[in-house]
Amino acid sequence: MTTTVPDGVKAGMTAPTTSAEMLPQKALIQLEGVTKVFETEEVETHALSDVHLAVRPGEWLSIVGPSGSGKTTLLAVLGLLDTASRGTYLLDGKSVLDLSPTERALVRNRHIGFIFQSFNLIGDLSVYENVELPLTYRGLPAAERKQRVEKALERVGMSHRARHMPGQLSGGQQQRVAVARAVAGEPLILLADEPTGNLDSKNGESVMQLLSELHQGGATLIMVTHDPAQARLGTRMVSLFDGRVVQDERLR
Ligand code: ADP
Ligand code: MG
Repeated sequence: MTTTVPDGVKAGMTAPTTSAEMLPQKALIQLEGVTKVFETEEVETHALSDVHLAVRPGEWLSIVGPSGSGKTTLLAVLGLLDTASRGTYLLDGKSVLDLSPTERALVRNRHIGFIFQSFNLIGDLSVYENVELPLTYRGLPAAERKQRVEKALERVGMSHRARHMPGQLSGGQQQRVAVARAVAGEPLILLADEPTGNLDSKNGESVMQLLSELHQGGATLIMVTHDPAQARLGTRMVSLFDGRVVQDERLR
């Protein structure tokens, strides 16, 4: 009888302990059997049903599907704004579904950058202060905050508007500031829900150009969109229907 011994073991080396170590690239996000049920007095809505999804670093996912198919719920679960009813979620290899609300907020602040359709800037804080706020929550020292805010504003071409208030900016400019706020903390993933939904086509294109640049710089991006042309900019398109992944297509 012959036994096959892995080369490394033969040579007296330590064998890999987990299969993940043998994969060419570890998944940054791993959802297994994720289900989200909203229970109201009269009805139970299965917003997500048995979702399996693995996302590797540097991917750009476009999430598409009809209204009510679970896109926003999926982003909320991925971004730790909401918790799944069942299933497992590993973020960078660590389980994040069983965290306390405080721990969840810490992970969210440290590792996730959000870009919303409605920008969600704070109206009575300046552009600079809006970008700085999540870094303040994180307890970063003032000098490091300053360096990060300036770098992020420069990246989105908004340095010249640092002292403006959000109300003094166009929608396109406000979304650029929101992108700066999302990237200033150098998150593991960027989540965007219809990031151009409130913009005219010219401003929309420039925000998409910005997202492309972030992707090229190595960011991992998950974007909900109902615009097929925008969806095609991603590296992969995941289609939802009735809370299920019905198609998962590699684009490039
Ligand atoms: P999409 O973003 O694709 O339009 P959503 O994720 O917002 O879809 O919603 C998926 C389903 O879950 C819908 O049927 C919606 O009505 C329901 N839903 C979403 N949020 C809630 C909530 N907080 N309470 C009850 N039902 C909800
Ligand atoms: Mg939605």
